[in-house]
Amino acid sequence: MQVASVIVDVAARQTDKEFDYKIPEKWEGLIQPGMRVIVPFGPRKIQGFVTALKNASSAKKLKSIIEPMDLLPVLNPELLKLADWLTETTLCFKISAYQAMLPAAMKAKYEKVFRLREAAASMNEELLSLFHRHDEITWEMAEKEGLLAALRQEVKANRAELIYKVTSKGKKKSIRMIGLALSDDKLADSMNALSANARKQKDVLSYLQAAELPLLPAKEVMEQTGTSNGTLKALIEKGLLVERYQEVYRDPYENRQFEQTEPLPLTDQQQTAIAPILGSIEDVRHETFLLYGVTGSGKTEIYLQSIQRVLEKGKEAIVLVPEISLTPQMVHRFKGRFGDDVAVLHSGLSAGEKYDEWRKIQRKEVKVVVGARSAVFAPFENLGIIIIDEEHETSYKQEENPRYHARETAIERAKFYQCPVILGSATPSLESFARAQKGVYQLLSLPNRMNNQRLPDVEIVDMREELRHGNRSMFSRALFEKLTDRLEKGEQTVLFLNRRGHSSFIMCRDCGYVAGCPHCDISLTYHRYSHQMKCHYCGFEEPVPSTCPECQSEHIRYFGTGTQKVEDELGKLLPQARVVRMDVDTTSRKGSHEKLLQQFAEGKADILLGTQMIAKGLDFPNITLVGVLSADTMLHIPDFRSAEKTFQLLTQVSGRAGRHQLQGEVVIQTYTPDHYSIQLAGKQDYDQFYKEEMVMRKLGSYPPFYYLALVTVSHEDLLAASSATEKITHYIQARLSNEAIILGPVASPIARINNRYRYQCLIKYKREPKLNHVLKSVMEHYTKQHNDKGLQVAVDVNPFIMM
Ligand code: ADP
Ligand code: ZN
Ligand code: ZN
Repeated sequence: MQVASVIVDVAARQTDKEFDYKIPEKWEGLIQPGMRVIVPFGPRKIQGFVTALKNASSAKKLKSIIEPMDLLPVLNPELLKLADWLTETTLCFKISAYQAMLPAAMKAKYEKVFRLREAAASMNEELLSLFHRHDEITWEMAEKEGLLAALRQEVKANRAELIYKVTSKGKKKSIRMIGLALSDDKLADSMNALSANARKQKDVLSYLQAAELPLLPAKEVMEQTGTSNGTLKALIEKGLLVERYQEVYRDPYENRQFEQTEPLPLTDQQQTAIAPILGSIEDVRHETFLLYGVTGSGKTEIYLQSIQRVLEKGKEAIVLVPEISLTPQMVHRFKGRFGDDVAVLHSGLSAGEKYDEWRKIQRKEVKVVVGARSAVFAPFENLGIIIIDEEHETSYKQEENPRYHARETAIERAKFYQCPVILGSATPSLESFARAQKGVYQLLSLPNRMNNQRLPDVEIVDMREELRHGNRSMFSRALFEKLTDRLEKGEQTVLFLNRRGHSSFIMCRDCGYVAGCPHCDISLTYHRYSHQMKCHYCGFEEPVPSTCPECQSEHIRYFGTGTQKVEDELGKLLPQARVVRMDVDTTSRKGSHEKLLQQFAEGKADILLGTQMIAKGLDFPNITLVGVLSADTMLHIPDFRSAEKTFQLLTQVSGRAGRHQLQGEVVIQTYTPDHYSIQLAGKQDYDQFYKEEMVMRKLGSYPPFYYLALVTVSHEDLLAASSATEKITHYIQARLSNEAIILGPVASPIARINNRYRYQCLIKYKREPKLNHVLKSVMEHYTKQHNDKGLQVAVDVNPFIMM
């Protein structure tokens, strides 16, 4: 007897374990670990992942697998092992780990349908007539028609059955191909036999005869011969043509040409940096490299040449870039070097397109994957390198289960394949730089820009001074002067508005009332486009009031600076300037991001105005001025990383200026000009920033000196939330060493979301081998035995969002 261990697709603590199922004889040898199967589970039929095969089971009554969903494993043994590791380190359910590794289109969707087994005269007439018209009746249809009760009777009497149909969302796209059905001589006979007025049909046959390929797309044949589908159909009916449906991939870049690029001769500093990486590839040895180099220092060329070596060895490469910098420019560089060997995975693709790219990898039709966070799970089986560009980006941490970090995941995979990992950044995360200092990672530096261009000159402007001089505009005098100068010279400017933590809100000028969300403890954000106020946490929205609800004053208006407001002001001050605005409003449509950039690249605009999304990856020769309108907004977020994020962002933005021949200038406007993160970003002095920030981290007992784990508890009842958090805090405290610092219970920075009160307990620790076990038992306790269903407990190991 063959038995399969199966993890079922029910994300719950009770079902987070392997269940045994018998493999029916007809599928013995076919069902493998890593395949999905349909299994009976209680009264239901659900999906599950086979994790292992065995010859016996200790379970008494063994149910059988109903059917396999795959013919080949969708998870290879290495990925199955990686899922164990993910489960262990992020405390997620095993099934969540498996799901995270597969494209969303493969997540099973069940459709419940009823089928008729045998009709009976006693059956409800409506039901009978429905079954007459449809093979299947969906649950929804039955519900809508009020037939569920009647159906239940029929199912009981075994005259109808309920089926859980697993539908795959990722439909394979296919195209119709046609070809000749007969060999040449037989065809000649048939052509002669065609009536004289069947000219069109003859044209099609001759066209196909002359073609080199046996099958051609029907559409192409019709276009080339000027015939219609009717002609083809007639030929198919006569048995002269065959039609086949061939699967095609939906390549989002299919109609684009990428100019082939050759490896550049490396500079001395690049050569020094790449040598250890090539050594690690050569020796098949795992090592993590931190490639620390300012923007424009030639990191990408090092990635490209390292990958090339890996491909020469017959191995594969994964390149992770932050979603926001998966710009066409970035994709071009990889496609330009490696052509069709490259698959691209980003969030702009439809579920179907992502599924196509995933299958190209699965079938080994590509060798390089460039993608955002989840591309770290690309199903390669002979990995030779993993590269993480902009490794400091917080988007590499997933903020839902499994709460994994792409960096740690990449290193785990690389250990298995004994291959290098390159972490690249101009402003490494404090954690990574500290590890490089300690020798855990090997530090590789590119201190100079290509051709030793100077870094741009940075001027920090104190906006409080501006106000004292009577300048109430959002542009300082210095920035305005330089803007005008660039316009005259025909050079380009990037204006950057940091919106994070700086949304526009509605406030009453007379009484100070601020419009807040009735369900969350957060103010509502003003959306000018729809003239609505929205809550970014729960989605609540309402129109802007015309008078203040508190004091009835009419002086209620919005504050804060949105990109649109800046655009309006530019229009007033510099009407001759051509402005391209890039923010969520102008780039939400597919392809608009690229179009706007293209416009700017072609010199059809003088000023590029935008939010975070313009901070990265831009590389245009004509940009000589970068203006940061408000540098400090992010500093005030209650997060120990706020200085680091501010420094990184300002450095990134400044790096957009003067990347080529023309010297660049940067103006940073701020209300806190003395803050070290702003001062040092102005000097682009990462090393000093690292030193000063490390002192702060040490004082605060934060990473990289301590690890963190965050437990967040929420409940509709405030008291229930706080008392549960208190119990949890005590429970954890009692089980960890004295060295662990446990802070709590305290209200979360956002104390209420969607009418649920939120409390947290923060654990800072250096070495607590029991911690994961303790946290797991906390979650088990509160999800299993606890009868209070309203209570939710979430654990985030190494959190990046502290709210
Ligand atoms: P980074 O990734 O560090 O920002 P890039 O790799 O984009 O730097 O390099 C900056 C510019 O220098 C690019 O235009 C790139 O084509 C060019 N470049 C990189 N390496 C070389 C080289 N060895 N020789 C000539 N040009 C190079
Ligand atoms: Zn008021
Ligand atoms: Zn809300």
